[in-house]
Amino acid sequence: MIYLKTEEEIGQIRLSNQLVAKTLAEVGKYIKPGVTTLQLDHIAEEFIRDNGGEPSFLGYNGFPNTLCTSVNDVVIHGIPNNVELKDGDIISVDCGACVNGFHGDSCFTFSVGPIKDNKVAALLKTTKAALYSGIGCAVEGRRLGDISSVIQKEVESNGFSIVREFTGHGVGRRLHEEPLVRNYGNEGSGIKLRRGMVIAIEPMVNMGKRNVTFDKDGWTVRTADHCPAAHFEHTVAVGIEKAEILSSFEFIETI
Ligand code: MG
Ligand code: MG
Repeated sequence: MIYLKTEEEIGQIRLSNQLVAKTLAEVGKYIKPGVTTLQLDHIAEEFIRDNGGEPSFLGYNGFPNTLCTSVNDVVIHGIPNNVELKDGDIISVDCGACVNGFHGDSCFTFSVGPIKDNKVAALLKTTKAALYSGIGCAVEGRRLGDISSVIQKEVESNGFSIVREFTGHGVGRRLHEEPLVRNYGNEGSGIKLRRGMVIAIEPMVNMGKRNVTFDKDGWTVRTADHCPAAHFEHTVAVGIEKAEILSSFEFIETI
């Protein structure tokens, strides 16, 4: 069932998402060659707790950390570890935080040092653009499938592929609520969107083929062909004329 949020609840979810946004920016300051993803995880956990939140992912279905840190061919759910980041890596940092009982959820793919490979630059640019195109459809009266369709078109027309095994989702008192928000599908299909729905839109995009494999740790999802993958996510409230983005990349983009 889909829980429609009151304006007050949407305000609470905005608060949680602003903390997530600031956490991603804090982590982003330390993304350099030589840092480990476990160090980034500690920075995020401390920052969330210092600002009155709880990490949403830590312990969720047994997930062991605050962040999902997915490097290069890891699409999502990478577990922070002691491997040092290298110049030219890309890393998707997915973060969730809970404040006053409501969750926030957002992800940004960073490059470690300047991006040297034009195709990697295009992958990041396309994934982020597809996210914003999807957000553009999160308007009352449109259909859920409009979001899915526009994301798929944008990604595939740029020669990249959509991971289908994972989706966006509703966000609220639970980190993952209904509805599922697919990154592929048909315009005009699915439920009608209305004010009160809060959803995480999160295209996961592979440079190569769409197929993924699972590591033995039970979490890490990798591209089967080991080409890189990108992941951008915002939590948004369906708007009357325009979606309201509750998370933010503005803190990251001013690092
Ligand atoms: Mg997320
Ligand atoms: Mg999510």
